[in-house]
Amino acid sequence: MLERSYEKFFRQNRLPHLWCPGCGNGIVMKAIVQAIEKKGWTQDNTVIVSGIGCSSRASGYMDFDTLHTAHGRAIPFATGIKLAKPKLNVVVITGDGDCTAIGGNHFIHGCRRNIDLNVILFNNNIYGMTGGQASPMTPLGKKATTAPYGSIDRPFDACNLAIAAGATYVARSTAFHVQHLVTMIKDSFDNEGFSFVEALVQCPTAYGRRNRIGEPAKMMQWMKDNAVMKNAWDKLPDDKKAGEKFPIGLFYKTENESYNIAYQKVIQAAGGVTK
Ligand code: SF4
Repeated sequence: MLERSYEKFFRQNRLPHLWCPGCGNGIVMKAIVQAIEKKGWTQDNTVIVSGIGCSSRASGYMDFDTLHTAHGRAIPFATGIKLAKPKLNVVVITGDGDCTAIGGNHFIHGCRRNIDLNVILFNNNIYGMTGGQASPMTPLGKKATTAPYGSIDRPFDACNLAIAAGATYVARSTAFHVQHLVTMIKDSFDNEGFSFVEALVQCPTAYGRRNRIGEPAKMMQWMKDNAVMKNAWDKLPDDKKAGEKFPIGLFYKTENESYNIAYQKVIQAAGGVTK
C-alpha cells in the first residue's frame, strides 16, 4: 500500500473521522499537515489548539500535542502556550462561529497584539455541529435554523476584519484549491506574528442541504466557478465583483514586531530570564 509521508501526522487509531460524507474539513486538515511537513516542523515542536465545532474536531485526529478547548477560546489557550514556550509553533484551528462570534473578541485582540500564532479558520458559513444556526459569516439571504427566511445580518469578511485589527499575514483559499491552500498555509507559517488563513469548506449537511445548493461536488464546483485569484480580482471592474464572486490569495503581509518579542523585552527589563 502506498504510504504517504504526511500520514505520520495523524492518529490512525482515531480514524475514520466523524465528519459527514463530502464535508470539506478533512481537505483543510490534510492541507495543514502538508504545510507543516513542507515547513519542516515536527510533532515535538508543534502544538495544535482548537475551539469547539465541526472543524475543531481536527485536533483529535492530528498526532501532535493538541488541545481541544472551550468554545471560542482557542486563541487565549494558544496565547498562553506561545508566551510560556515561545519556541513552539502554535497552530489554531477554528470555525466561523467559534472565531468570529463566541471568540470574536479574542480574535481581534490576537490580531491587535500580533501574537505569533497561525490561525486557520474553516469557513463553512454556518454552525454545523450545533444544528445549523446562522453564524456571523452566513451570507445575506442564506437560510439557517435561526434564519428560516434567509439571514438579514450582514456577514463579516474575516480577512478584512483581521487586516483592520492588526494581523500581519492574511490570506484566503478554499477546499477546492488544494495546492493553493497548502501554499497559503505554509506561507503563513513563515510569518512571525499573527497569521490568518480563511479556508472555505463545503458543508453539505447543515448549509448546503438547507440552502438547496446540492451535493458536495456541486458546492466545490461553486468554489471553482466563483473564486478569483487576487491579482485578477484587483483588475476587475466593480460590476464584475458583484454577485457571488470572491477573491482568494494573499491579501496582506507586513513586518511588525510580534508580541512575543515585545514580551521577552519586558521580561529582560524586569530582570527575568528570557526563553
Ligand atoms: Fe462537515 Fe457540515 Fe457535517 Fe459539520 S455538519 S461535519 S461542517 S458537513
